[in-house]
Amino acid sequence: METAAVRLLRQVLAALIQQAPDRISDPQWRRLLQVLFPVVVQARRGSLTEAAAAMVREAELHDGAPIGDIPSLYYDMHALDVALTRVLREPLAQGHDRPLVEVASQAAVERHVQQAARDATRVVVETSEGPGSPVGWARRLTGAENCGFCVMLASRGAVYKSASSAGRQDLNRFHDGCDCEIVPVYDVNDWPGLDGFIEANRRYRRALDLVDGRGDNVLKALRRDLYADPFEIPAKAA
Ligand SMILES: [Zn+2]
Repeated sequence: METAAVRLLRQVLAALIQQAPDRISDPQWRRLLQVLFPVVVQARRGSLTEAAAAMVREAELHDGAPIGDIPSLYYDMHALDVALTRVLREPLAQGHDRPLVEVASQAAVERHVQQAARDATRVVVETSEGPGSPVGWARRLTGAENCGFCVMLASRGAVYKSASSAGRQDLNRFHDGCDCEIVPVYDVNDWPGLDGFIEANRRYRRALDLVDGRGDNVLKALRRDLYADPFEIPAKAA
């Protein structure tokens, strides 16, 4: 998902990092956040617009009910402050390599951008009621970055609205640099992430077999297995 707003965000962030001293003072830090924040907000809006369009397409495909208002979820500068303190301000002060700091900062900020789409989709699905509304949502692997963590979560498939909330929190966790999406599920046999889910599920069960079902080591086994045999989402049959 790369919108013009995301490209602009990358440029602004790169320029800010370039200008920043190793030890950023409090006033300099506030200034940096004040410059960056509106650009992140703008990119989050773009992300929401894309999510809304994807939801409308999916609803039309399944003769679903029209999609209602897309909520724009609360986001404030504090969230940006916390994330960038961890990946930008502190590492620079510790003398980390600037190119690496920049990559980590981009990934952190873009996670905030993508989260707007993920949260909005999940909220729309969970609050929609009546005929033609989705039965649940799922985490969709998009193919470019399928780490063990994401494959493990995607292997659980759709989360149904009727399900308890226990598993949901987990499925809604994303790491910096993660390109997973949240998609609405109208039909359990036909949803945008189904092929990836089937393959993720196969790989997860294979990892379980490798550790004889001992759950605590399964993620490690899955990571090793994915390293030796990278995950590919099967091309959708025409
Ligand atoms: Zn992911």
